[in-house]
Amino acid sequence: MSGEVVSLLETLARACRVLEMEGHGDMTLGHLSARDPAGRGFWMKRNAIGLGEVCGPQDFVLVDFDTGEVLEGAGGRHSEWPIHAEIFRRRPDVNAVAHTHPSAVCALSALKTDLLPLGVDANYFSHPIPRFDDTAVLIKSPDLGRAMAESLGDHYAVILANHGATFCGNSIEVMTLYGIWLESAARMHLSLAPLLSEARIPAPDQLAERQAQILSAVHIQHSWAFLIRKLESRFAPGKPFYVD
Ligand SMILES: [Zn+2]
Repeated sequence: MSGEVVSLLETLARACRVLEMEGHGDMTLGHLSARDPAGRGFWMKRNAIGLGEVCGPQDFVLVDFDTGEVLEGAGGRHSEWPIHAEIFRRRPDVNAVAHTHPSAVCALSALKTDLLPLGVDANYFSHPIPRFDDTAVLIKSPDLGRAMAESLGDHYAVILANHGATFCGNSIEVMTLYGIWLESAARMHLSLAPLLSEARIPAPDQLAERQAQILSAVHIQHSWAFLIRKLESRFAPGKPFYVD
């Protein structure tokens, strides 16, 4: 493993742990990946462990785009590898992908409704946030992966009906933040569910202006640094942890 890959996978391991801390864990389900810098495929969390049990580069395997074969690293490969392969193939701007089952997004995914831009967290996304409603089964084939990647289009998150979410970004840090913002926005939507007929949605020009204000490189840097401080204040680096 080159120094560049080690450093990439150390960041990806922190992203797994941050997402577990922030409510994206679902026992051993959920997986994150990053594009291999040498173009050989993508590095994906190994299966059979939870996001909070990911401790470092040893917890990732290098996966081939076409066959799903493990090219490097020890451990099993998650069956939903086509989610990652097909997004990386379709989106050259994307360098990191995640698929998780956070509880509010999962609940919202079971409703026939779009996530509304009610608060600041939803404002990081363009609306409507895409939904992949073709099927509720796991995305285990390249055909389904392609169909899901088509639903994602040029967005950074797609809600998978009765299942969960897939989100991505040009960096591991941005991808992680999109996952956190999506779950927080879904939580707000659900908390207002009985009152949605009275919901106030900001005008499109206000949403666009505020998105430009909040989606800045410096804010992303500050948010990531905050999450790492929070993670390290609660959980020792290099040790598995579990949250309720
Ligand atoms: Zn899933």
